Amino acid sequence: PQPEINLKDFIRGVPDFPKPGILFYDISTLIRHADAWQIATARMARAVAAFKPDILAGIESRGFLTAAPLAQRLGCGFIMLRKPGKLPGKTISLQYGLEYGADELHIQEDAIIPGQRVVVLDDLLATGGTLAASIALLRKVGAKVVGASVLIELTGLKGREKIDTDLNALISYDM
Ligand code: IMP
Repeated sequence: PQPEINLKDFIRGVPDFPKPGILFYDISTLIRHADAWQIATARMARAVAAFKPDILAGIESRGFLTAAPLAQRLGCGFIMLRKPGKLPGKTISLQYGLEYGADELHIQEDAIIPGQRVVVLDDLLATGGTLAASIALLRKVGAKVVGASVLIELTGLKGREKIDTDLNALISYDM
């Protein structure tokens, strides 16, 4: 059995980062603690396994930190959703709105065999824009998106309302 540890004790809120007025939840303090990170990945693995995925997709860059170890544990493949200019070969992309300006994610057009069951992972859900765009992009290349999982959900921002697949979050904060 896993020890009763509270993962929130390992997450640091950094005020005024990256801009004044923003409270940034920093997972560096979680992933550098061997036991806490083991427990977090084990808990996330259990939730993700329930979606019965073939492939885990990680959103650059902290989504790679959650998706890659889980793919190893669960015997799934791992694919990357990346910022522009990073992936070789033909890519498919999607632009999405951020609080300030727009961002864009790419995926290799042959990343998925159509119909494969994909779960998409990131570190944190805020407004939901990044995760919603990732799900749309995965569907564009033929994925059957069967779930999404994040370490942290900021429930006050209601990002969950933008996500039309089952969403699992290990930890949540009101804001
Ligand atoms: P959203 O698109 O508004 O849901 O923002 C989520 C994206 O921004 C994720 O890829 C996160 O990595 C990043 N992000 C937003 N706020 C935070 C935070 O407080 N800590 C860590 N990452 C954040």
